[in-house]
Amino acid sequence: MKNQEAIEKRRTFGIISHPDAGKTTLTEKLLLFGGAIQTAGAVKNNKIKKSATSDFMEIEKQRGISVATSVMAFEYNGKQINILDTPGHKDFAEDTFRTLTAVDSVILVIDCANGVEEQTRKLMEVCRMRKTPVIIFINKMDRDGKDPFELLDELEQSLDIKVRPLTWPIGMGDRFQGVYNIYQKGLNLFSANKTKISDDVVSISDINDASLNEIVGEKPADELREELEMIEGVYDAFSREAYLAGDVAPVFFGSAVNNFGVKELLDTFCEVSPSPRGRETDKRMVEPGDDQFSGFVFKIHANLDPKHRDRIAFLRVVSGKFERNTFYQHVRLDKKLKFPNPTSFMAQDKSVIDEAYPGDVVGLYDTGNFKIGDTLTSGEVMMYKGIPSFSPEIFQELENLDPLKSKQLEKGIRQLIDEGVAQLFVQQPGNRKIVGTVGQLQFEVINYRLIHEYGANCRFVPRNYFKACWITTDNNEQLQSFIRAKSNYLAKDKDDNLVFLAETTFLLQMAEQDYPDLVFKSKMENTLLVAKLKKCQNLNIMS
Ligand code: GDP
Repeated sequence: MKNQEAIEKRRTFGIISHPDAGKTTLTEKLLLFGGAIQTAGAVKNNKIKKSATSDFMEIEKQRGISVATSVMAFEYNGKQINILDTPGHKDFAEDTFRTLTAVDSVILVIDCANGVEEQTRKLMEVCRMRKTPVIIFINKMDRDGKDPFELLDELEQSLDIKVRPLTWPIGMGDRFQGVYNIYQKGLNLFSANKTKISDDVVSISDINDASLNEIVGEKPADELREELEMIEGVYDAFSREAYLAGDVAPVFFGSAVNNFGVKELLDTFCEVSPSPRGRETDKRMVEPGDDQFSGFVFKIHANLDPKHRDRIAFLRVVSGKFERNTFYQHVRLDKKLKFPNPTSFMAQDKSVIDEAYPGDVVGLYDTGNFKIGDTLTSGEVMMYKGIPSFSPEIFQELENLDPLKSKQLEKGIRQLIDEGVAQLFVQQPGNRKIVGTVGQLQFEVINYRLIHEYGANCRFVPRNYFKACWITTDNNEQLQSFIRAKSNYLAKDKDDNLVFLAETTFLLQMAEQDYPDLVFKSKMENTLLVAKLKKCQNLNIMS
């Protein structure tokens, strides 16, 4: 296949939501439409539920399921659709943030009764940062929820994005009759249908047509007309450019569990959503149409079988064509690697692939070469930017309980950090290791894996930090004075970046006041790696 043809065909996106809004259900219905699965219930729910501490195997099993469904690919309307799965559990939010760097657009699912929830807000912040185009699906219209206009206002206000409804509900809950498709001028009548795909659309070319009264009843028909008039008055006409720029989110209403409103969503998605986009590197912008292959690793998953210590690195192809058994440049390690068994993930099947194109995600078997954020190229020395690290929310110190196993512990924790399970901050003197996560669940996973996979013996002791802030500055004098004054609160992250571990907001504010030339960032991109790389290039260490 020609590269350009392959690029135009691909749509790579993620579905995001607050837990329980209906992400898994919607994913499943999209796969049903795409013919990737035949019956409802075939997609395992990969939600990692917080379980009793004894139930580690359950967590492991669920992680296994999430590998199998990491990327779900299917063809629909001549498009090759790649859905990248994102964990719903909030303790794994960082995983989701990283996956969002590998998608070109997202579908955000909102529960019509709950509106904007905590996770919705956080996930959308990341999308806004990256200007990712967003389509919103308001779900569970078969249940009573908030007034649709109220919901739209809430979305605009709390997510800081303009919205534009493309379908409109007729009633909700018990009185839910269906949706009117503003975009295509058709009426889709609701019937609860959990297993089959229905797409009976009554075409209504004129909303004032009397047949509408007969179909939905006089009062609901009048209400619909009034509401549509209001929509046209209040919201700008839908502009694909504004959507692609991340400024406006088209909104759909439906009920995922009933297969309702999903087809409208998918059809419009295929029509308006972006084909694979380029990405910025430290050197230049790389476009998907560039001849030379390049891509980056956004996720690493350990093998579930402890006897096989290999891992799978998930690589998003950004430009050119990836080919099996071809040597590529691992930029950070300055090493040539080739991959005899690159895999794709098609719904629940894994299969070896010979080639992959921009927008595709390839699974690479790895014996420890990859870290999250690594770049692979045909030879060019450049690194993709923008895999962010956020300040963790919970900090605990890792204590070694068996001095004879300190090597195993060191190796184990380093590898888990490379996988992105948690962040590590090392304090001197004493090589003290502070592990930071966004949720308690990770400590349980880490502890379990250190014992079972590496034979280490350790425990975690809570530390009372409020935030980890990466320090950058041009004022070396001020930096040195800060280092002298605050040495007890300083640490290095996994890439040797200097980090201030602030115990309270007040202490952070004081530091900012007393050292005005220092910048304290609670979010960091992999830029230091890039800086290091530049230094190497200056010294001609790398070719
Ligand atoms: P996730 O956590 O976002 O992946 O949510 P799920 O897809 O697992 O859905 C959470 C719950 O909501 C499940 O019990 C679903 O059956 C239910 N659900 C999903 N879509 C709908 C819907 O359209 N209507 C109703 N009434 N329930 C729904």
